[in-house]
Amino acid sequence: MSKITVDTARLPLLLNELRLPAISRLWQDIAARADKEGWPAARFLSALAELEVAERARRRIERHLAESRLPSGKTLDGFDFNALPMLSRAHVMALAAGDTWLAKGANLLLFGPPGCGKSHIAAALGRALIENGRRVLFMRTTDLVQRLQAERQALQLAAAIGKLDRFDLLILDDIAYVTKDQAETSVLFELIAARYERRSLMITANQPFGDWNKVFPDPAMTVAAIDRLVHHATIFEMNVESYRRRTAIARKTKTDRQSGDGSA
Ligand code: ADP
Ligand code: MG
Repeated sequence: MSKITVDTARLPLLLNELRLPAISRLWQDIAARADKEGWPAARFLSALAELEVAERARRRIERHLAESRLPSGKTLDGFDFNALPMLSRAHVMALAAGDTWLAKGANLLLFGPPGCGKSHIAAALGRALIENGRRVLFMRTTDLVQRLQAERQALQLAAAIGKLDRFDLLILDDIAYVTKDQAETSVLFELIAARYERRSLMITANQPFGDWNKVFPDPAMTVAAIDRLVHHATIFEMNVESYRRRTAIARKTKTDRQSGDGSA
C-alpha cells in the first residue's frame, strides 16, 4: 500500500468534498464512542456508512413528499375504519405496502358519495407509499386535465405524459368533475392509455361507472377507458353516509343530550 499521510484536521473539508453531510456532522461523536468502547475499525466505518445512507433515504422521502401535492394531515392513523365496515383495514394496509400492485401498474378505484372519505383514504395511501420509498403525485382531476390540455396546445402532450412516468402512482381526485369537453377529456383518455399496465392510477369518483359517460365525450371512449382502468384494479365501493355529516350529527346529539341533562 502506498504511503498516505493522515491529517484529521482536513477531515471536515474532505467529507464536505465527498458530500457526506451526515458523517460530517456525526463522526466526532461516533469516533469518541468507538474510542471509548474499543470498536474495531470496520465497525466504526460501517456505523458511519449506515448513518449516511439512512439520512439520504430520509431526505429523498422529504423531497418526494414535497413534490407530491398531497393534502396535509390525511393519514391512515387518522382514518376511522369503523366508519366504513365494507372496507378491510388489512386490505388497505397491504396496498400501503405497495410492492405488488405498483410493480405491475395496477389501479385502485374509490367510489362513494361526497364526504365518505375517498380523498382522505387516497391521500393517506399516497403518503404511506411515499414513506415506503415510492413516488406519488396527487391532483384534482380538473387541474391535471387543464395542465395536460395546455401541454397539448403546446404540442407537448406526449412529453408531459412521459414526464408523469416518474411517479409510481398518480392520484386523480374527483374524476367525475371533469367538464364534458371533447378535447379536455381525450387528454385524460390518453393518460389512461399511456399508463395502462405500466404505471398505476388511483381514481376517486362520486359515481361508479354507470355515470361515466358524463366524464368522457363519447360512449366508445368511455368503454375503452373503463376497460383499461378495471383490467388490473382493486375497487372500493364506499357506500356510507358523509363522514362530515355524521360527525356533525354526533356532535349535535351530544350537545343536545348535555343541555337536556342540564335542564332536567
Ligand atoms: P370525499 O373525498 O369522499 O368527498 P373526504 O375524504 O374529503 O370525502 O372526507 C370528508 C372529511 O371527512 C375530510 O375532512 C376527511 O378527513 C373526513 N373523513 C372522512 N371519512 C373519514 C374517516 N373514516 N375517518 C376520519 N376522517 C374521515
Ligand atoms: Mg374528495
